Parts: sequence; structure tokens; C-alpha cells
Amino acid sequence: MTLKDPSLLREAALVGTRWIEADDSGIVVKNPATGELVGYVPKLGAAETKEAIDAAAVAQKGWAARTAKERSGILRKWFELMIDNKDDLGRILTMEQGKPLAEATGEIVYGASFVEWFAEEARRLYGDIVPGHQKDKRILVMKQPIGVVAAITPWNFPNAMITRKAGPAFAAGCAMVLKPASQTPFSAIAIAVLAERAGLPAGLFSVITGSAREIGAEMTANPTVRKLTFTGSTEIGAELYKQCAPTIKKLGLELGGNAPFIVFDDADLDAAVEGALIAKFRNNGQTCVCANRLYVQEGVYDAFSAKLAAAVGKLKTGNGFDEGVILGPLIDNAALEKVEEHVADAVKKGGRVVQGGKRHTLGGTFYEATVIADVTPDMAVAKEETFGPVAPLFRFKDEDDVIAQANDTEFGLASYFYAKELSRVFRVAEALEYGMVGVNTGLISTAEAPFGGVKLSGLGREGSRYGIEEFTEIKYVCLGGI
Ligand code: ADP
Repeated sequence: MTLKDPSLLREAALVGTRWIEADDSGIVVKNPATGELVGYVPKLGAAETKEAIDAAAVAQKGWAARTAKERSGILRKWFELMIDNKDDLGRILTMEQGKPLAEATGEIVYGASFVEWFAEEARRLYGDIVPGHQKDKRILVMKQPIGVVAAITPWNFPNAMITRKAGPAFAAGCAMVLKPASQTPFSAIAIAVLAERAGLPAGLFSVITGSAREIGAEMTANPTVRKLTFTGSTEIGAELYKQCAPTIKKLGLELGGNAPFIVFDDADLDAAVEGALIAKFRNNGQTCVCANRLYVQEGVYDAFSAKLAAAVGKLKTGNGFDEGVILGPLIDNAALEKVEEHVADAVKKGGRVVQGGKRHTLGGTFYEATVIADVTPDMAVAKEETFGPVAPLFRFKDEDDVIAQANDTEFGLASYFYAKELSRVFRVAEALEYGMVGVNTGLISTAEAPFGGVKLSGLGREGSRYGIEEFTEIKYVCLGGI
């Protein structure tokens, strides 16, 4: 696959103010659809991470001292470069991650929207003047950048999970040291190349590739890092939380989900099918907001199952560069095996495969888009995130029943439901123990809205006007003798 600008696919890491080139002793990155080599990135560790943190601390001081308008202008330029290069960035993303090219380019535009949004928000980081408690005093509240931020991001959104963190961090006046997922480092490196071109000061943004454990250990132990922002599994998130305790860092954690998708009998079934396709099958089911459990009310269960199975049967699986492909490969063999185990477990316990249900004839890590009916709470799909193209259909009687089932999980990220009656819409939206609720829609993520979870799904919010607050500290100044 040729790029218009081949310099965007750079086999190097950006450590503080210098690039470190990879050689063939580095980490191998392969295209999950074909197994072909995409390239190498350097295998770095604690020493380079420390170097990047030290450089970030220096660069951050100068960056924070600039006016908000100057920071905003550079972020705006970065956003524009992402849009100008969206085709190349999309190709790099498909090459290393596998998602269809149209979806990958869509992610680039979505990812860039966070940089655009926070370029705008940079100028609106207002403080407060609070009525004083004594005649000669005035109380000022200012918001200041937290300082050096460390970020660790996953492979399912190799671009947007970075911009959603870097946009607000830079807007607030912070520096960032990033470790992207080893499966998908080239998308991260490409946006670092563009950050340089946009005029982001040297040292402000580092992209360190290499051992997650070693880089993570330095990031969490180093006292200069004042915030860690992580998107990934709950298991690793909890480990990082623990590692950050001795240095009392602020934490942003976007962790696992187990999203319910509820179809009430007053729903528009065609709209619900369309929403389910997006909420379940986007990124081949590999997103933390993917519908994991579909609850359908008794009266419409059979009709909905039939419509969904028919629609799913039309989704084309294949290489993300091929025309008309909607579903790419799974990221790796472990992901494939997990999907297989979940389907086998459901079938063993009485689940009925109505569509798909096995490895795809394409081989590799391709799996058929699958719908399973008659799913019950004792099956693995009810409790664990499948992270693949499998839609399990549960049956429910009434509102109380489905709310109890939907909330019966340790996770609390996204949830979805389809209904028309207004009072039901409010009741259910309020009763779902989730950070996000999509009503009559399967697509909720956008730069303007606060993304995040409750319970084991994490801490903090990304995007929206709340997202920038996470990268600030509040300082109270008491002016006396007035
Ligand atoms: P996923 O299942 O999405 O791969 P992980 O939580 O395993 O989720 O990985 C998300 C990110 O966290 C990746 O960038 C990965 O390299 C990184 N990571 C994995 N283990 C650790 C660790 N022990 N310390 C720091 N980062 C880690």
C-alpha cells in the first residue's frame, strides 16, 4: 500500500527531543489481515522513558507560559494536518490494525475532532472569583496545568485514544509521554511527526515504543509524572492504579465494559437493528463500548432476532483494503480464541446459533459475524467482554427484570436502549448504572460529550468541557489586606 507522504510511516520513536530509529532487532509490527510486515519500532525501556519525562518537564514550563491563544493555534494546525493527511493516516491504521479503510479514515477524522475541540477549549479554561469570607479578602480560583502526563493506549483505536488524551493535555498546558500499544505504534508515530510539523515544541510530546511493563513501571514510579491516563483492560488499569499510589498521581482510567443493549417492545425494530449493527459490530466488536449483551423483550424477541440475523448475514468480512468490507480480522490469535470459547460455552449451555458461529473460511484471525439466540445469564458472554463479532440475544419480561439483568455486572461504561414511551426513556436512563446511555442510538462517542465509566470501567471523563479539567489542578489564592 503506497502512501502519498511515505515519511508518515516512520520506523522510529520520539524520545524527548530526539528520534531513535528502529532496526530489525526492534518490535515487529504485522498486518493482522495478511501477516505481512508493516515495519519495526525500537524496543525501548526505562532509561528512554526517564529521558522523555525529563525533557517533558523542561518543555512543559515553556508551553504553559505561552498564551492560551498560542497553544490553541498550534493545536488547530495539528488538527488541520491530520485532516490534510487523513488518507495516509487511515492507510497506516488499516495496515497495522486491520479495520476497513473507510472505518480507519473515519477514526482519523473522529480522532482529529478531539484536537479541534480542545484547541477551542484551550481558550476557555476559566477560573472563578468567589465572594470572600472577610471584608479585606478576595478568593481567587485558578486552573493550572497538572504538569507532565504519562499516557498508555490500546490497539483498538490507535489514533483516537491518543488524541482524546493529548488534545486536552496540550490545551491545558501539559506535556505528554505516550506509550502506544505494540500492535499499532505507527499511527501514534505518524501523529507525532505531524505534531512536530504543527510546531509543538520539542520535548513536549514523546512516543515511546517497547516493553509495556518497563515503560509503565518508570511512568508510574517517576515523581515528575503528575497524571497517568490509561485506556485498556481493567486488570492492567488496576495494576497501574496500585503502582501510582506511592507518588499519589492523578488517574484517568478508561477500562473494560460489558454494555447492555435493550430493545423494548415499543421500540422501532428496524432502527434498533441498525443501532445494534453499529453498537455491536463496529471495529469487529473490538471496542469497550460495544454492545456485549443484547436484551430483547419477549413480544418482539423473534421478530428482532430474525431481522438482526438477516442484517448481520449481509456484513462482508475481509481485508480492510478490499472494497465493501465491513468487518476486518480480529487483532490476534488470543482474541480469536476468546471469541471461539465464548461461542462454544454459549452453545454448550443451550444457546442457538442463528447466524455465523465459526471461524471464517478466509482463515487467519477472521471470524464470522455471529448472532446467538436463547442466551442465559450463566453463559460466559453474560459476564465477560467478548471483544469480537458475536451478538448474544437474551430474553426479558419487563422493565424491572431487564434493569436488574443489565446492572448485574461489575462494569459500567456504555449502555443502550430502544424505546419510545417518554416516561420509560427517563426511568430507564436514570436506572442504568453506567457512565453513558445511548437512547435510540448505537453511536454515542463524540468530542462534545463526556466519555467514561463507573464501577470497574474506570475513573474520569474524556472529551467535552469536563475532559480538560482532568489535566488541571485547582489553585486557591486568598488575597488579603485589600
Ligand atoms: P488490551 O486487552 O486492550 O490489549 P491491555 O490492558 O493489555 O489491553 O493493554 C492496553 C495497553 O496497556 C497497551 O498499550 C499495553 O501495551 C499496555 N500494558 C499492558 N500491560 C502493561 C503493564 N503491565 N504496564 C503498563 N502498560 C501495560
